[in-house]
Amino acid sequence: MIPGQGGIVTRFAPSPTGRLHLGHAASAIRAHDFAVTRGGRFLLRIEDIDGTRSRPEHVAAILADLAWLGLRWEGPVFQSQRLDLYAEALAKLDAMGLVYRCYCTRAAIAASLSAPHGPEAVYPGICRNRPRHEDTDAPHCWRLDVAKALARTGPLNWWDETAGTIACEAAAQGDVVLARKDAPSSYHLAVTVDDAAQGVTDVVRGIDLFAATHIHRLLQALLAVPTPRYRHHPLLTGPNGERLAKRHGAPTLAALREAGEDGRALADLLRAGRLPTGFSARNA
Ligand code: GLU
Repeated sequence: MIPGQGGIVTRFAPSPTGRLHLGHAASAIRAHDFAVTRGGRFLLRIEDIDGTRSRPEHVAAILADLAWLGLRWEGPVFQSQRLDLYAEALAKLDAMGLVYRCYCTRAAIAASLSAPHGPEAVYPGICRNRPRHEDTDAPHCWRLDVAKALARTGPLNWWDETAGTIACEAAAQGDVVLARKDAPSSYHLAVTVDDAAQGVTDVVRGIDLFAATHIHRLLQALLAVPTPRYRHHPLLTGPNGERLAKRHGAPTLAALREAGEDGRALADLLRAGRLPTGFSARNA
């Protein structure tokens, strides 16, 4: 243990919507080792708020995979059992006048955007200024009024191990969804509430979530909870540079485990910065 560095808390927070792959292993090992080598704690959180895509068999495989890699953790906690906390946070933001009901279908949003757009298109604010007395119980999601929220917080910063101090640019993502028709909390709200509630000091996760951190930082300020340090790491990629999650046929940890591969040896290989043949790391 390095003196003065106890109190570190990290977490691995997979969504049980599929099997874990090598990239997940590398991320979990980083988070685990960062805490454990400093005398800290490593938590496992199962992010299963998406009830339609989360599967118990994926949860079982995640636990078996992490144990096979030789990791030990506290938990897991399941987000599906913490919905009251997210509802409470949403109610707090509602009381501050910072969220609104959005009844737009995907098709309505697409139709209102003039330029060609991808799935990441920013919500054009159709429901933002609808008067409250016009609210109905028709299916809706809750969106954060980001401009209003930023006006309330003023400029914010957060810190990333590689990028240093970053100005929070939450506005670029538009009025993000905080709770959905089919899930009582979005990823953004649940992760912010949980990282705070679990006392996470250092968020070790893939660089694909870098942009999401702007939203998390804003939510932290609004909910008056501490900001962890962020340690976004490069993603592992396959031979053609494509992300493992998207790579057709990338071996899952479960497949390697079931084939009798040595999980601890694989973990040590990843720790040494060496990757199985054909894989590389990159900043997305
Ligand atoms: N549940 C997210 C995922 O599986 C990760 C959340 C996080 O690390 O903040 O992609």
